[in-house]
Amino acid sequence: MDKNNTPVQKLGRISSNYIFMKREDMIPYSFGGNKARKAMLFFEEIVRGGYNCIVTYGSSHSNHCRVIANMAASRKLPCYIIQPDEASDMTFNSRMTELFGAHMEKVPVKDVHDTIEQRLRELKQQGKKPYFIPGGGHGDIGTQAYVLCYEEIREYEEKHDTRFGYIFLASGTGTTQAGLVCGQLLYGDERKIAGISIARKNPYGKEVIAESIRSYLSLKGFMLSEEVLQSRLIFLDDYTEDGYGMCSSGIFETIKSVMTDYGIPLDSTYTGKAFWGMEQYIVQKNIAEENILFIHTGGTPLYFHDIDRL
Ligand SMILES: *Cc1c(COP(=O)(O)O)cnc(C)c1O
Repeated sequence: MDKNNTPVQKLGRISSNYIFMKREDMIPYSFGGNKARKAMLFFEEIVRGGYNCIVTYGSSHSNHCRVIANMAASRKLPCYIIQPDEASDMTFNSRMTELFGAHMEKVPVKDVHDTIEQRLRELKQQGKKPYFIPGGGHGDIGTQAYVLCYEEIREYEEKHDTRFGYIFLASGTGTTQAGLVCGQLLYGDERKIAGISIARKNPYGKEVIAESIRSYLSLKGFMLSEEVLQSRLIFLDDYTEDGYGMCSSGIFETIKSVMTDYGIPLDSTYTGKAFWGMEQYIVQKNIAEENILFIHTGGTPLYFHDIDRL
């Protein structure tokens, strides 16, 4: 049975490897993507708990803010978004977030934490019941969303009698990767799940993911040795270029060719950077004769942000 599993598509080859793509961008809500998969679980919690307004955090590139603002608007729930002042150029995501009537507030990065606390306090004083969604849909609920995605991957393998030796994806907060790795650990599978960092560096980036995994698995009562955890955690920070939203011409070449060859839009902040990083890594590490799955984590509106530069 396929429930509403997102499609897995076979693309071409890189060296002697076959590349497949799991199209999370085709989740049928607000352009899909990993933020839509996470948000659906967060909103189940919001409805269950009778919360009546949402507070969250994210930059102007953020797919998370667009999806949350969309879901809040469709449920007529006021949505408050705290944005870091820096790196806040206008994107289609930020324009849609505005369109959905979210209350946006730009503050210097150092004030983000206090502003969120203050906003939550004020809303409670007004008799409201606010729900805070961490930036990017970070936390156990976000992790859970990608344990479910991992189960879809296993279903695909079973149904098509195939096996992915590697899974690659764009890693930001690392919650998506944490969910996939938790799935792998819970099922005792042997394979490599490699997060291509879009901004964070090691050891910090990796430690945040490790913490997400520990938190989720302890919730499930799953015992995990630190050694196994570290051996399962591949967080590659060699392809970040100059950081979040920054990229070089190689990434645009990749975006252009994936669109031309397969009709699949990638973007330079997340999926394009990760696909390009994967291409480099496969060649640099001489990976051969593998079935490799790339998770398309969404962000389609950002494709249009890049189009003048393609
Ligand atoms: C947020 C985002 C990511 C990163 O997801 P994390 O769970 O934060 O690591 C990757 N790709 C796209 C398109 C995103 O919007």
